[in-house]
Amino acid sequence: MRKIQMVDLQKQYQQIKTEVDEALHQIMENAAFINGPAVKGFQANLETYLGVKHVIPCANGTDALQVSLMAMGLQPGDEVITTTFTFIATAEVIALLRLTPVLVDVYPDTFNIDVQAIEKAITPKTKAIIPVHLFGQCADMESIMNLAESNNIGVIEDCCQAIGADYIFMDGSRKKAGTIGTMGCTSFFPSKNLGCYGDGGAIFTPDDSLDEELRGIVNHGMFKRYYHDIVGVNSRLDSMQAAILDIKLKRLDTYIQKRQEAAAYYNNAFSGNEHIKTPVIAPFTTHVFHQYTLVLDGVDRDKLIGFMAEKEIPVMIYYPVPLHLQKAYADARYSSGDFPVSEYLAAHVISLPMHTELDSEQLDYIATNLLKGIDFASK
Ligand SMILES: *Cc1c(COP(=O)(O)O)cnc(C)c1O
Repeated sequence: MRKIQMVDLQKQYQQIKTEVDEALHQIMENAAFINGPAVKGFQANLETYLGVKHVIPCANGTDALQVSLMAMGLQPGDEVITTTFTFIATAEVIALLRLTPVLVDVYPDTFNIDVQAIEKAITPKTKAIIPVHLFGQCADMESIMNLAESNNIGVIEDCCQAIGADYIFMDGSRKKAGTIGTMGCTSFFPSKNLGCYGDGGAIFTPDDSLDEELRGIVNHGMFKRYYHDIVGVNSRLDSMQAAILDIKLKRLDTYIQKRQEAAAYYNNAFSGNEHIKTPVIAPFTTHVFHQYTLVLDGVDRDKLIGFMAEKEIPVMIYYPVPLHLQKAYADARYSSGDFPVSEYLAAHVISLPMHTELDSEQLDYIATNLLKGIDFASK
């Protein structure tokens, strides 16, 4: 059996090696390393795939979030509501821009931002909401958009973990994750569902004037060559990464399907176990399983992790500490106990290997040993 990894990018590369090597070779021959045709080609193909008018490539997902906030023209002290149960980048950019992150709790079943909690957190200073489509399924966008519209607030979707997921509206129509809000942000970090071989990111928007603004900001605030109207940043997707992404974009739906099949295998293997809660998918979204995350009940998690390590099965805790309990984000407004769902999840979740190359032998080995580990570590 092949050694199990959380994400097996070596094996995935072997399947597309000829195409990738050829594309990279061509870029080296042409030397159009920055803003070359590969970037424009990928941008156009991603716009088509997502069904969104504008895709603005940038250097990484964190930049995508930062640049989106910059494009909203907010003032220091303006409030931005987001979830406390996410990767740090979501709140980091709010703090870096001297805006005020306002954290709220999540739902215990989907791990996504609690809409009632958002509503309670809205004040006259609230200027934006950043819902995170955590682990690969969409937050409740229709409710969030209604709330945002009636309060005149912008919505930036953090879609770094959910590219390709569908949001299903009440009337049955669908839109891709990241294309519903004012702007959507994604990351092409290698382990993401659409990942390159380095860093990359993108912003999505249906709005023409935001598109222009965003393109200016990622290019030093420059709209006319060497005339800088605003303070911007330098955030680019390079041609090699774009070429790799274009090759992988053609396979994204197949990759998603492979992740869903692995998830179905796990679900089936764990169903009925009293100590394991398998992922719950909300009715308004598909799930692209960036992560396959279980909630454990009555299990000594550290003991289980030790057991899995002995079996050479990697597992991860996403995320062990909610943002309001992180040292850098310590804030007089928040203390332990304020967001009980997120704090509970941080102490009880575990994520299993999830990627496009898991075979049935590996899945069986992981599932069998997880069940043995649960027996061993149950309290
Ligand atoms: C990965 C990720 C980011 C940051 O993306 P980078 O490309 O690493 O900067 C932001 N938010 C979430 C939810 C992520 O998973």
